[in-house]
Amino acid sequence: MNNPSESWTLFLDRDGIINYQKTEGYISHVNEFKLIPDVIETLEQITPFFKRIFIITNQQGVGKGITKIENLLEIHRLLFNVFKDKGIKIHGIFFCPHLKGTCLCRKPSYGMITRLVHIFPDVEPRKSVFIGDDIKDVLLAIRIGSYPIFIGDRSPLPGVPAFTSLRSAKDYIINLRTT
Ligand SMILES: [Zn+2]
Repeated sequence: MNNPSESWTLFLDRDGIINYQKTEGYISHVNEFKLIPDVIETLEQITPFFKRIFIITNQQGVGKGITKIENLLEIHRLLFNVFKDKGIKIHGIFFCPHLKGTCLCRKPSYGMITRLVHIFPDVEPRKSVFIGDDIKDVLLAIRIGSYPIFIGDRSPLPGVPAFTSLRSAKDYIINLRTT
């Protein structure tokens, strides 16, 4: 059964998992940030199975000059607070603000995870679940030895489970942690 002393970690992509993607362009202001229904309830149910929860997100809109860094930080403060009010503690939000091909942290590169493990040395990527809606998330998960879960219509890689939403992945996630 669930043993909270085990240091399992939950990695979540942001856009498309926690909040709606914009159909075009980047979420550049807190007014555009809309939580997906059921995300709070789902996280309330799965977080007891994890010691730590992190959000790992590419935010190239910053590098392109579309999203101001202060607006991104405001969105993340809101996110922390909304979850905190519901008793869900997010241990960190790691973001890559860089343009594609210019850094070592944009997913599927693992620079954000390297930094995270440096700050949280008890995080063991092999004891983690990584949830995202892009093949970049799946590739990063596989690279670091995490268990990938794809949110979307069709899994981008054989053997990687796919669900239409975080909510519909809930039982699978709990099962991963308890068996
Ligand atoms: Zn980067």
